[in-house]
Amino acid sequence: MKRIYMDNNATTAVRPEVLEAMLPFFREQFGNPSSVHWAGRAVSGAVEKAREQVAKMINCSAAEVVFVSCGSEGDNLAILGTADALKDRGNHIITTAVEHPAVLNTCEYLEKRGYEVTYLPVDRDGMLDLADLEAAITEKTILISVMWANNETGNIFPMEEIGRIARKYKVRFHTDAVQSVGKIPVDVQAASVDLLVISGHKLGAPKGVGAIYIRRGTKLTQLLHGGHQERNRRAGTHNVAGIVGLGLACELAAAEMEEASGRIRKLRDRLEQGIVAAVPEIKLNGHPTQRLPNTLNVSFAYIEGESLLLNFDMKGIAASSGSACTSGSLEPSHVMGAMCVDVVLAHSSTRFSLGHDNTEADVDYVLEVLPPIVQRLREMSPLYNRKEPMTCEECQVIRKVSTVNEG
Ligand code: PLP
Repeated sequence: MKRIYMDNNATTAVRPEVLEAMLPFFREQFGNPSSVHWAGRAVSGAVEKAREQVAKMINCSAAEVVFVSCGSEGDNLAILGTADALKDRGNHIITTAVEHPAVLNTCEYLEKRGYEVTYLPVDRDGMLDLADLEAAITEKTILISVMWANNETGNIFPMEEIGRIARKYKVRFHTDAVQSVGKIPVDVQAASVDLLVISGHKLGAPKGVGAIYIRRGTKLTQLLHGGHQERNRRAGTHNVAGIVGLGLACELAAAEMEEASGRIRKLRDRLEQGIVAAVPEIKLNGHPTQRLPNTLNVSFAYIEGESLLLNFDMKGIAASSGSACTSGSLEPSHVMGAMCVDVVLAHSSTRFSLGHDNTEADVDYVLEVLPPIVQRLREMSPLYNRKEPMTCEECQVIRKVSTVNEG
């Protein structure tokens, strides 16, 4: 069976060059970079080279890059570290309703501890109104946290404008750039960002490594206490192989970005146009142009995203569902909810996120198998046979019944 991977926003394959570069650090170069002897010194050089590579990718100095274990850790460090370090200045944080759980759940955790959080709404295209941001700032605001690009829709937020607002009001600015770094240019100076988070496994490096940019002079309470690694910003022995992989992945992505994003965008557009031409009653979710080049989010009326994914899987296609059913919840995605996507359409939202390895043949295969799958599922759907939209109440009832059945 063919195997087509279009879930690169979930994770990417480790690039072969990256794997090659990492291997010596599992073998002969096994030293601890904090050791002063030859074994440690050999390895610490590699860590510092990777730091330079990451810094170059986002236009900062190497001393401002701190290695962490993943994007979630970076977001936690940025938000919790700021909340604690600036607690005497204020207790108000502004974020958006469409952030990744790494940000949303961290903010909710802080709310339970007395912090106030404003969750900015988005419009039907999933974009922010910056007047809302400016209006939300108070003298107690210590942090603005807005993702660079959204993982579900691919929407890119106006970082430079947000950075200008943050500077104007002297509020710290954090961005979760996990989906952006490696896909589109990211420049911490142009965007006046103070804290920016990267995750290795989204750009061809392995899982288990990430980085956070911390602008020089930014007071941040550390999350992990222990050794003095990473200039006391993050304790713990370095994941040397992962760090080396992340450094090289950044260098490769920067060098290839223009060519790769153009090629991937063309494939994504071919997929999008093919679906629009072949399947009636769909909805494209997200902004039509302010979007990552690799991401397409589409709802297929009358059917469940999960059934579609299972049918895709049987044909060897890996995509992902906008609803969070895969993670054990039957709630539709909070991103679709925030965009006021009709609840039935939200349940059928499907994300295709393309990557380096995809080809035109992959897209054409998806376009060949998708329409009959959608048609078959629609014919089995009571919603389709009824041919009129469900009310929210009816949808909730159906959700409850299916929960009971699945339980
Ligand atoms: N932020 C965004 C926007 C993401 O898409 C993800 C992962 O899906 C994360 C944060 C979390 O990154 P990690 O899996 O490295 O913890």
